[in-house]
Amino acid sequence: QVIYLNGNYVSKEDAKVSVFDHGFLYGDGIFEGIRIYNGNIFKCKEHLDRLYDSAKSIMLDIPLSYGEMEAALVETIRRNELRDGYIRLVVSRGPGNLGLDPTRCPAAWVIIIVEQLAIYPEEAYRDGLVSVSVSQRRNLPEALNPKIKSLNYLNNILVKIQANLAGVGEAIMLNAQGYVAEGSSDNIFIVKRGVVYTPPCYVGALEGITRATIIELCAKLGYSLKEEPFTLHDVYVADEVFFTGTAAEVIAVREVDGRTIGEGKAGPVTSRLLAEFRKTVELDGVK
Ligand code: PMP
Repeated sequence: QVIYLNGNYVSKEDAKVSVFDHGFLYGDGIFEGIRIYNGNIFKCKEHLDRLYDSAKSIMLDIPLSYGEMEAALVETIRRNELRDGYIRLVVSRGPGNLGLDPTRCPAAWVIIIVEQLAIYPEEAYRDGLVSVSVSQRRNLPEALNPKIKSLNYLNNILVKIQANLAGVGEAIMLNAQGYVAEGSSDNIFIVKRGVVYTPPCYVGALEGITRATIIELCAKLGYSLKEEPFTLHDVYVADEVFFTGTAAEVIAVREVDGRTIGEGKAGPVTSRLLAEFRKTVELDGVK
């Protein structure tokens, strides 16, 4: 495994970060999770747009131009000889002193890790996941700025811990008002009487790239789609529920908090969207 570290290509053993790095000390940084399908970087521009927007918002100077970043991604993939996999791109504030002042960190650090991906088994896409709602709420600064994909994932980790305790793969997080926000690392959709719903980002959901792809596919396939807030009640009585994310793709949910969703397996809209999504990923991307 070859890792990109500040312009150098190093082995996993040599890919080390300083204990004074503010990404480590304070979660001060941003990241992206990106998929490689068939040798192509899926939605490369969208991911880099989100990365550079997140950086601007937190006043983090990425030391690479957009084109240089794209070239670094392509070169890291080439050196790892992967046709299908997952890219983790991290930009941290870099090493500074122990205070939290980012002006004491002279240069951001850029790290690119490319890996094979352990996703859900294929049966899970047909049978659907079991999920639960958790007591952890989308925390306020994050909920107000859900578009920043920051390294502060403690809230999401607390959701994941609750999911683990319940023995499920993904859980449903509400915002402080009780509206459904998203999963620990996935966006959520429901389908009711042929209409597809997903929470608007202001409810406290990341502007997911997979979410955007599904919104586009709904338009293409003629499904009516509404971005509006909904509650757990709406989830329980939905005909279909599914999560979307770079790693999970489009995965059905068959049960939430003990309530069977629809027929208790991947429904027709979810299955169609997954099939179309898989066609799209083969076509799109940077070579
Ligand atoms: N919400 C959160 C909190 C996430 O971390 C992710 C994964 N990036 C998503 C949603 C899904 O976003 P995407 O489709 O861009 O992977």
